[in-house]
Amino acid sequence: MTELTVFQQKFSALCGDIELRFNESMAKHTSFRIGGPAEIMAFPKTRDQLAKLLKTSALLDCPFAILGAGTNVLAPDEGMSGLVICLKDALSGLERLDETRIRVMGGITMARAAVFAAGLGLSGMEFAHGIPGTVGGGVYMNAGAYGGELSDIIESVEVMDFSGNIRCLKCSEMDFSYRHSRLEEEGGIVISADFVLIPKAEEEIRSLMKELQTKRTASQPLDLPSAGSAFKRPVGGYAAALIDQAGLKGFRVGGAAISEKHAGFAVNLGGATAADVQQLLQQVSDRVYETSGIRIEPEVRIW
Ligand SMILES: Cc1cc2nc3c(=O)[nH]c(=O)nc-3n(C[C@H](O)[C@H](O)[C@H](O)COP(=O)(O)OP(=O)(O)OC[C@H]3O[C@@H](n4cnc5c(N)ncnc54)[C@H](O)[C@@H]3O)c2cc1C
Repeated sequence: MTELTVFQQKFSALCGDIELRFNESMAKHTSFRIGGPAEIMAFPKTRDQLAKLLKTSALLDCPFAILGAGTNVLAPDEGMSGLVICLKDALSGLERLDETRIRVMGGITMARAAVFAAGLGLSGMEFAHGIPGTVGGGVYMNAGAYGGELSDIIESVEVMDFSGNIRCLKCSEMDFSYRHSRLEEEGGIVISADFVLIPKAEEEIRSLMKELQTKRTASQPLDLPSAGSAFKRPVGGYAAALIDQAGLKGFRVGGAAISEKHAGFAVNLGGATAADVQQLLQQVSDRVYETSGIRIEPEVRIW
């Protein structure tokens, strides 16, 4: 038995009935379809299971990472040592709290949350319907689109710290800004979020979601694996426009390329490695800096 197998068995023995997979390909769990194996991947169904995973990691001195739907992550080719805690579809549940508020668990996709709200005749989440990540991942980086961002509609967030303790933070305490929350510096896991919405006719809500989806399909390369916008919006411009002006549409490194359809997207044309994507992002950032004097930074989280 290898050292890794012994470690995996030890971890498993301490985790009881929590679903674990060993040497699970990260490419299967990221929208880029890139990434080597995670030594251990866990799918906790409850907050107790999540806390148990954190305690086991601490006990065994095992590094861990939190994964939602993997739509904003570039996972390394060599794989992930330690534990990846996968929350999509694991930490799930949606409930109406009162006339205007809903509570959504961190592992629910934003699409599902938006459809749930629409079904209740509650407006405000339409912009998030087409963002393919989970509510947890969305809160972590204050996801947004078409003029809206999650911080506009969040009332509070339930956060578990890495010792397993849970606290409730008001929206004003989350330090939200463009694609940022305090969790990026402090750490912490989004267990659930409460949203305050506005009553509206369901048809109007569904019609806006459909209109925004049509816009997305027309402008974004949704047929190719990607992580959405590869770069953050810089002060004084738009990354896609700057990349286009630098003549980089279609620019390629290995199997990774800047989309011909939308210059803000880095896409996997087939067989791209994480190293290809990282080099592509670096070279694009450098070329944009040379042509515009503006430095663009990756939006995708490079693990
Ligand atoms: C085709 C496409 C279109 C996109 N369009 C948009 C868009 O319009 N607007 C936009 O903002 N983004 C967009 N994205 C990017 C992505 O969907 C969002 O950033 C989303 O919020 C990521 O959520 P996720 O669950 O996939 O997180 P992941 O990619 O799994 O993780 C991203 C980060 O969040 C952390 N994280 C995940 N879950 C939790 C949790 N429960 N608690 C704490 N931390 C957590 C991870 O550790 C990681 O650091 C797009 C992506 C794609 C592929």
